[in-house]
Amino acid sequence: MKISWKTLLLWSLPIIVVTFFIWQGFLAPTNNEINNNIASSRMTYGRFLEYLDMGWVKRVDIYDGGHTAIVEAIGPELGNRVQKIRVELPASAPELIIKLKNANVDLDAHPAKNTGALWNLVGNLFFPLLLVSGLALLFRRSNNSGSGPGQAMSFGKSKALFQMEAKTGIIFDDVAGVDEAKEEFQEVVTFLKQPECFTAVGAKIPKGVLLIGPPGTGKTLLAKAIAGEASVPFFSISGSEFVEMFVGVGASRVRDLFKKAKENAPCIVFIDEIDAVGRQRGTGIGGGNDEREQTLNQLLTEMDGFEGNTGIIVIAATNRADILDSALLRPGRFDRQVSVDVPDFNGRLAILKVHAKNKKVDPHVSLSTIARRTPGFSGADLANLLNEAAILTARRRKRTITINEIDTSIDRVVAGMEGTPLIDSKSKRLIAYHEIGHAIIGTLLQNHEPVQKVTLIPRGQARGLTWFTPSDDQSLISRAQIISRIMGALGGRAAEEIVFGDAEVTTGASNDLQQVTSMARQMVTRFGMSNIGPLSLESETTSPFLGKSMSSNSEYSDEIAIKIDFEVKKIVKICHNKALEIIKENRVIIDYLVDVLIEKETIDGNEFREIISEYTNIPEKYQYYI
Ligand code: ADP
Ligand code: MG
Ligand code: ZN
Repeated sequence: MKISWKTLLLWSLPIIVVTFFIWQGFLAPTNNEINNNIASSRMTYGRFLEYLDMGWVKRVDIYDGGHTAIVEAIGPELGNRVQKIRVELPASAPELIIKLKNANVDLDAHPAKNTGALWNLVGNLFFPLLLVSGLALLFRRSNNSGSGPGQAMSFGKSKALFQMEAKTGIIFDDVAGVDEAKEEFQEVVTFLKQPECFTAVGAKIPKGVLLIGPPGTGKTLLAKAIAGEASVPFFSISGSEFVEMFVGVGASRVRDLFKKAKENAPCIVFIDEIDAVGRQRGTGIGGGNDEREQTLNQLLTEMDGFEGNTGIIVIAATNRADILDSALLRPGRFDRQVSVDVPDFNGRLAILKVHAKNKKVDPHVSLSTIARRTPGFSGADLANLLNEAAILTARRRKRTITINEIDTSIDRVVAGMEGTPLIDSKSKRLIAYHEIGHAIIGTLLQNHEPVQKVTLIPRGQARGLTWFTPSDDQSLISRAQIISRIMGALGGRAAEEIVFGDAEVTTGASNDLQQVTSMARQMVTRFGMSNIGPLSLESETTSPFLGKSMSSNSEYSDEIAIKIDFEVKKIVKICHNKALEIIKENRVIIDYLVDVLIEKETIDGNEFREIISEYTNIPEKYQYYI
């Protein structure tokens, strides 16, 4: 590798700086040592010679290149105690050594490491020099950065810019629940293993594959598995690492990365978080970043630069495909796109199996129960869940992970740490009514998910919680289901109102109300489930630059806006009334359930349903269509 003098200078500077401080601190201890060694007393050279003649000097330590001596002497003038005295020696006193020798004095010299004028000079000039040369370099770099490669780019090179793993050791079996993606990648593995098959018939091997999916779904894992399956090296770099302080560094890193990759072909180049560099260019919002554009341009150039059949396959990962520069997505670059999504029930089960393999899980634990309880969990969440349960098991000094630890871990992941239960009081009663209110409406309404448990043990922000077993398919929800959820969410407040009266209702329902409002609003503006009709008035799309919540692009008239508000209010109002009605009609069971809950702190879903069916015979559930 050719190293230019600039590189050398630039990277040796920090070393020199460090050395300078080490030298100041450790290698030049003489002054400190002298200072530590002596008492405050000093004597002249003449007096020292006199002492020597009198035979009072016991030991002499010479420091500072022969300029200073610490003399240990004893004598009547010193109170007949051995004392340490500092003596400045004249520049040249060769006769002194002989004299000391003759007088049989212990003599020791402590050489100073090159102290003196030269070092002072270096010390004084050093920092100005450092500053000037650093500035000069920077100046040159920014002048040249547009004018071609190789010029001033050499200093992105010396840092570790990317990771290389000769063998990732990960195979497809380690990645579960993403079968479509794996199928697509099976082909990529074949490209890497037997390119001849494709080139023989004139096929061009694709250069880039873009993995799209939310965090923790196994994108990195998949990329590694491809490398592992094809047994080729794996080069990886993260997009955020490209974005550097110095203009041009990102681009030079891209260049280096591809240079190394070409030397090691066939191989996989993995670019994580490509959205950090690959955003749409030239849009003003979010700050035009010259550096990012240069890096992106370099990436595009490199991808065009190698022929399709060199055996390098670039895999990039992002969770924001919508904001990527269209140039990245055109054929010949990342023309294949594979999406990995949050796993469904079967996917979760498969992932749990993979991660349970190397853990001591009790044979009674049913992984499918866990999978059912964890909709919305990503692969990483599930891996983390089992690990938490294992840690808990170890902490409880158990031998195997039981459903108990797993349940505790799920609760913790979903709702936060468990707090200490409230003491019996009016507010505990109120919370109990609130939670039973949710639970009873959830149980009695036909289209509501079943109650899993009700508890008064605080968790995270919540002071009590009602858990529902989520249905498998969360992506397709009917109008009746949403209405039921709104009623269930209003059940807590409704119970407070009926039991304690309007004046006593609490702020505890604020979270419920937020959800209620959002569900009702979406019914009107997104799902076409109101009297306004099947119109999509607001979209969920997020602006690439403004983040999620800021962009509800409303494209409707003020007249429609008023109608929307009216419809939202109507839905909530009707649901609230129905909730109040259900609470009133079932007041007797509710009172009983509250007593049980206060006593036991937690009621399991099955027990809850049993109590209800014992108390009343309402086999028919409420059906509310509004
Ligand atoms: P991403 O790159 O999509 O953010 P990772 O690949 O880094 O996610 O996943 C993080 C960890 O989560 C992995 O190391 C693995 O332990 C676990 N994981 C995620 N998805 C899966 C999956 N589909 N199968 C098995 N384990 C997974
Ligand atoms: Mg990742
Ligand atoms: Zn509530």
